[in-house]
Amino acid sequence: MASLQVDGVTVAFGGHRALDAVSIGAEPGRVTGLIGPNGAGKSTLFDVISGLRRPSAGGVSLGGRDVTRMPPGRRARHGLARTFQRLELFGRLSVRDNLLVAAEMGPERRRARHMVAEIVERLGLAHLADQPADALSTGAGRLVEVGRALAVRPRYLLLDEPAAGQDGEETERFAALLRSVAEDGAAVVLVEHDMGLVMSVCDDVHVLDLGRIIASGPPEAIQRDQAVLSAYLGE
Ligand code: ADP
Ligand code: MG
Repeated sequence: MASLQVDGVTVAFGGHRALDAVSIGAEPGRVTGLIGPNGAGKSTLFDVISGLRRPSAGGVSLGGRDVTRMPPGRRARHGLARTFQRLELFGRLSVRDNLLVAAEMGPERRRARHMVAEIVERLGLAHLADQPADALSTGAGRLVEVGRALAVRPRYLLLDEPAAGQDGEETERFAALLRSVAEDGAAVVLVEHDMGLVMSVCDDVHVLDLGRIIASGPPEAIQRDQAVLSAYLGE
């Protein structure tokens, strides 16, 4: 199966374990939530999956292939794309050109312009397409980040707090977009603080706290999980 698997991943910064034997899976056609308090290790786990940080133990596989030692660029060619918590857009380029740069690196570079037009439409960014990225609100900037990840037609899509700064209407449209990306066959992993969005859009949820998975399951069960409630309340 073309799933994303993280198996027993440990990352230590000095003596501090940011991730401690973490195992999670994400399946194509599903949106998998990864939640947890600040500092839980969510972004570090994305760094391990995308190849920016080597774990001291454990591994990552994509579609059954062990990619633990594979550099980030090769993982991207296996269909992995991610967004960053901090925006990484080209500030002076327009929204359209930011998307074009990404599309021209993807597997369908000859259709890049067509794909960009499609993504602009899908993300509701038509009215902003000619604006420089610098001029965007945080919410819109994050949507463009997501658009850049979509432009490479990912099979595995990692989103790090993509809805931060979006208003209610933007979040609703974004939820529909995530569902459609999954329905197109991608395995989507969503790191997000907006619990309403997580609970409405995710098929499965993993909860990280202090570098450990403390719960995994469907959103309804996670919402009622005592360990999860305690972690969020800081007890
Ligand atoms: P989250 O994304 O869940 O908020 P992070 O993955 O950013 O959490 O961080 C997890 C833990 O690892 C935190 O305690 C953080 O301070 C620490 N950390 C993250 N990156 C580094 C780094 N480059 N050097 C040292 N510690 C780090
Ligand atoms: Mg983070």
